[in-house]
Amino acid sequence: MADVINEVTVAQICKIIDLLNPCMDDYVYVYDLVNDFYYISPSATGRFCLPASTFHDVVANHAKFVYEPDLTALQDDLAELIEGKKDSHNLHYRWLSVNREPIWINCRGQVIRQDGKPLYMIGCINETGKRQQADNVSGLLGISHLKALISSDSFTLPDGYMLRLGLDDFKEINEKLGIEYGDMLLKRTAECISGCLLPQQQLYRAGSDEFLIADFSGRTIDEATIQYKQIRQSIDQFVEDNNYEAVFTISGGILPNSSCKSYGFNGIMKFSEFSLNEAKREGKNHSSIFDQEKYEKFLRRRRLTQLIRKSITNNFEGFEAYLQPLFCAKDNSLYGAEALMRFKTEEFGMVSPGEFIPVLEESGLIIPVGKWMLNESLELCNRIHQIDPYFRISINISYIQVLKSNIIAEILTAVTEHSIVPSTVIIELTESGLVAPDARITKLWSRMKDQGIKLALDDFGTGYSNFHYLNELKPDIIKIDRTFTVKAVQNEYEYNLLSLISNMVHSMNLKICVEGIETTDELGKMKELLPDYCQGYLFGKPCPYDEFVEKYLCR
Ligand code: C2E
Ligand code: CA
Ligand code: CA
Repeated sequence: MADVINEVTVAQICKIIDLLNPCMDDYVYVYDLVNDFYYISPSATGRFCLPASTFHDVVANHAKFVYEPDLTALQDDLAELIEGKKDSHNLHYRWLSVNREPIWINCRGQVIRQDGKPLYMIGCINETGKRQQADNVSGLLGISHLKALISSDSFTLPDGYMLRLGLDDFKEINEKLGIEYGDMLLKRTAECISGCLLPQQQLYRAGSDEFLIADFSGRTIDEATIQYKQIRQSIDQFVEDNNYEAVFTISGGILPNSSCKSYGFNGIMKFSEFSLNEAKREGKNHSSIFDQEKYEKFLRRRRLTQLIRKSITNNFEGFEAYLQPLFCAKDNSLYGAEALMRFKTEEFGMVSPGEFIPVLEESGLIIPVGKWMLNESLELCNRIHQIDPYFRISINISYIQVLKSNIIAEILTAVTEHSIVPSTVIIELTESGLVAPDARITKLWSRMKDQGIKLALDDFGTGYSNFHYLNELKPDIIKIDRTFTVKAVQNEYEYNLLSLISNMVHSMNLKICVEGIETTDELGKMKELLPDYCQGYLFGKPCPYDEFVEKYLCR
């Protein structure tokens, strides 16, 4: 074999490489060891930052496109080849793409000798990280085919839609029934979907448990919904025929091609993934149509989460504790303040707590930020205590903090560290989280009480309070939410209901704070209920510490 090959000249090999170039995804090369010359499939120059498809001074030139940390390994290997110490080359390392990003490649080659003297090395380079082009489990084309199609210069996306399909809870099926069984289900699912395909549609495998139908026929999203339902039916039928051995469902994200024409392949993948996730979020076994507005909200939430993370690592920059005054209803004296969190960024300006608190809760970041807020609020309280030692600070705690962090220890440590008299601290928990008794909440509640810290049940009237449970917990203060106040002012039935509740609360020896009083009318009506404390814009909006001190403590 070698005898025949060494009769072939390097120039002839270069011609053969040119001939093969349009038919291959990989890159064939020849390295002329006599003349220090290199030739590679011309298509490689479109992928890697090579000086050209042909160059001299091979080792030195490699330094221009090999990822720097991998260069020594390559040079060592080439040195052994040049010195004749070995005949074959097989190295996994990284080349730089045209955008100078490292790309894993596997370079294999064979040295051809004549009379023992190395003449040239011939070999092939393939991209190790390249996605599988076809999937042997489902028997479908891989998504990289769609990418190649859409990314080609001559292609314009026709009207139609993308229907992205994902098995619901596939991980669980794999865990319960094994990966082989999971593979069988994927195959059957692919068959069910294929059976529902219409003319001018192509089905791709789009990730481990996802598929994508690309429709280029101008069909509408209503037709996509019908197609999704047919697929779902076909899967239900399979589950039934399979004697319910594995019961599973499929969700679908629908994307009209018109909404992603200028976003290319990446846009299609991102938007269709978002729609599929929405369908899953909305309860699974269901399809959801891409909604640009929702997507933008999702991006904003994601960006906000990033900014919050950045702020946390930056000593909570942008977070601030505002204070809103609480007054005693009897004599209008200052009772204390509720500490309310604020978050400001250059990009978004002041973000409302209604927006960022749910982001903090969902991401779990309420744990570090809530701890910071607790300490900040107590620090401000300590400073106010120099002026008014009886001043109360009321701090909001989220249920996530109760359920997922050691909030009891955090509160007790912070109260001690800031030298605060515990009876001047109020912890607010919302009513809506207290639907059912929970051991962790009861424990927090009793530990706080043991230490003399007061407890307030926030947003009363928005949840479904169970009076029996209320009696068990015995919070010190019940805060009547503004929605309840507004309803009571406008509607007699609501007012009577509130009046009954407030009598009952008072008979249990608990205090009442009415929140959100904006007008003198509201104040007049609510005062008839004989509340203990009042809070609202009428008395003062939440404001920064300095302003608070100036307005309410230096009078
Ligand atoms: P919340 O605990 O019910 O706080 C009272 C909210 O009512 C505050 O909104 C306050 O600015 C607003 N408010 C006060 N008086 C009036 C009024 O007269 N009229 C109207 N329309 N609103 C009034 P804010 O500051 O936007 O906070 C919203 C919610 O965010 C809070 O409701 C609370 O649930 C949450 N939150 C704020 N800070 C924190 C915090 O530090 N930790 C936790 N876990 N939640 C917080
Ligand atoms: Ca509150
Ligand atoms: Ca409230």
